[in-house]
Amino acid sequence: MSYLNADLHCHSVVSDGTLTPTALAHRAKGNGVELWALTDHDEIGGCAEAAQAAQALGMAYLSGVEISVTFAGKTVHIVGLGFDATDPRMVSGLSQTRGGRGQRAQDMAEQLAQVGIKGAYEGALRYAGNPELISRTHFARFLVESGVCKETHEVFRRFLTEGKPGFVPHRWANLGDAVRWIREGGGMAIVAHPARYGFTPTEEFALFSEFKQHGGEGVEVLTGSHTSQEAINYAQVAREFGLAASRGSDFHSPEESHTDLGTLPWLPGDLTPVWDRLADRIQH
Ligand code: AMP
Ligand code: MN
Ligand code: MN
Ligand code: MN
Repeated sequence: MSYLNADLHCHSVVSDGTLTPTALAHRAKGNGVELWALTDHDEIGGCAEAAQAAQALGMAYLSGVEISVTFAGKTVHIVGLGFDATDPRMVSGLSQTRGGRGQRAQDMAEQLAQVGIKGAYEGALRYAGNPELISRTHFARFLVESGVCKETHEVFRRFLTEGKPGFVPHRWANLGDAVRWIREGGGMAIVAHPARYGFTPTEEFALFSEFKQHGGEGVEVLTGSHTSQEAINYAQVAREFGLAASRGSDFHSPEESHTDLGTLPWLPGDLTPVWDRLADRIQH
């Protein structure tokens, strides 16, 4: 059923969002979401609270995560849905993936110090609800707080991205490993916001081909970070690669996110929604 208000991508304080899993569940329900997943970066620490909150609200729920992967020298995000959030292979894989974030954050702060921005590590850490998950978003909030930039999007234009001060290349999980952790726990792997990566057509073809070979099954067609033309392009990719289609706002914060929970357009009616293939994993 394509016309379901499913929102299968968002972030809580357990990664780089500003709301708790419970507050997100209430906001989703209030916006009319009928099926919801919390997909924190490299972390499933919020899943139990999210499941409980969804159940209390009578909102259908899928376990979720967004795993950071390195592919063709770039960072790609793989969303996992409907897996067993207590599976030890997932738990240890994510813990490894989170591993390098502390050192990376210190290296980022050192680069920022060289362009005159002091105390960024401590500043970012204050925003991190989960110190193991210190991310560029927390640095962005610190740079806004300290008056260097007006808003977080400006931070990513001037800092923290390739070629700009504060960018530290990092090696995340392998594509095959991330897909395997999700599948071993009975879940479905989905390529998140594909338009964001800036791949050449050849690299993008390689990404989707290898993803499928590893057992990946879905692609985000509708996300807060796609334009309507990009949604049309990736609907076509879903058809060409035989992938199920997902829909998720990627909501992080009422102050920063342009797309609120549950407000995206419907999926094109001819695509197979990921929730059709995940029916037995949905918690009611
Ligand atoms: P990290 O995992 O530490 O590399 O941080 C990545 C996070 O930074 C993403 O999940 C987004 O929340 C945020 N981010 C990346 N690029 C942008 C951007 N251009 N504008 C706003 N937030 C961004
Ligand atoms: Mn994020
Ligand atoms: Mn992402
Ligand atoms: Mn996300």
